[in-house]
Amino acid sequence: MTAGVYLHIPFCKSRCSYCDFATDVYRDSGAVERYVDAICAEIGTSKAEITPFVDTIYFGGGTPSLLTPAQLERILEAVRARFEVAGDAEITVEMNPATVTPEKLTGYRALGVNRASFGVQTFNDRDLKLLARGHDANDARNTFKMLRDAGFSNISFDLIIGLPGQTLEDWQRNLDEALALDPEHLSLYILEVHEATPLAEQIRSGRRTAPDEELAAEMYEHLLDRIAATEFEQYEISNFAKPGFASRHNTKYWRLEPVHGFGVSAHSFDGKARYWNVRDTAAYVDAVAGGRSAEAGRDEIDPARFASEFAFLNLRLTRGLSLVKYQQRTGIDLEREYAADLERLADAGLIEINGDVLRLTRRGMLFSNEVFAVFA
Ligand code: SF4
Repeated sequence: MTAGVYLHIPFCKSRCSYCDFATDVYRDSGAVERYVDAICAEIGTSKAEITPFVDTIYFGGGTPSLLTPAQLERILEAVRARFEVAGDAEITVEMNPATVTPEKLTGYRALGVNRASFGVQTFNDRDLKLLARGHDANDARNTFKMLRDAGFSNISFDLIIGLPGQTLEDWQRNLDEALALDPEHLSLYILEVHEATPLAEQIRSGRRTAPDEELAAEMYEHLLDRIAATEFEQYEISNFAKPGFASRHNTKYWRLEPVHGFGVSAHSFDGKARYWNVRDTAAYVDAVAGGRSAEAGRDEIDPARFASEFAFLNLRLTRGLSLVKYQQRTGIDLEREYAADLERLADAGLIEINGDVLRLTRRGMLFSNEVFAVFA
């Protein structure tokens, strides 16, 4: 089995109003250099708990596209020195509008970066302001053109639905524009309002309306209808790709395959345990620079937890959960063990069983948490 490598780059130009990720505002290149030193050191000293064969590398954040090609190169060199990276590895960098130049993108391409996960979020300038994204829709259009001009032929758009005040028509226009630009992949997120974010405070104080869950569900349904008439195929609840462009890295999470995580707050999975680093960038850099582990916690995956995760992570995928494979991996006959729950969920139109495969229905994708609760 091959593994993925996840690298967390916690710097952003400014902080978006809804964000609760581990991220810091980019202040000076010195801080970024120290961080790059630390992540390279962590990669170089990581223990071989997971297979050394790697076929996906993913720079997430934060805004990894704030890294210079030289910084990205140092990190990739550290990864290649520590692991056996496949020649055709998928190498993704999350990029935000107005954070790259043609020269930077050419530099990334020369280093083997072959996929861009592009943080468009919305093409509506009013909503971009509300989210304090720090760019406008034209920046997104221009950056997309730059990506194509630099030779990126595998681009994913991140889009958010369920924004305060966003109408169904707004979303339809957004989606039309996204599809007209013709990316290879779409990832859809329903806005979550996290406590302690400026957006949560704006909603509490009445300056913004709370997101409307039913309207978000309507937007999702509209997306499924619209996508059905295109080349895109849905392969996961929130992910859509043209044939051959499903994210190889993200699919590892849903298939419970191993991932080495490096950087502040990065999570790893070695098949037996999940473990993660501290969330504070200064504490992370201090720990690694001092030769100490940055690990902040660890969850052993006991057989019950494995069975639970195996069920609901596979159910996220449109190909569904193979009941035979589930029994082989867990020793549990799912149809017998959960007979009453499965009958209830099928009657509610949330799941269907065809031969060996248990799948969410379209309605089940909207109410997936109700299904996953059964296997929790
Ligand atoms: S760009 Fe992404 S990670 Fe950075 S502040 Fe905005 S939402 Fe958070």
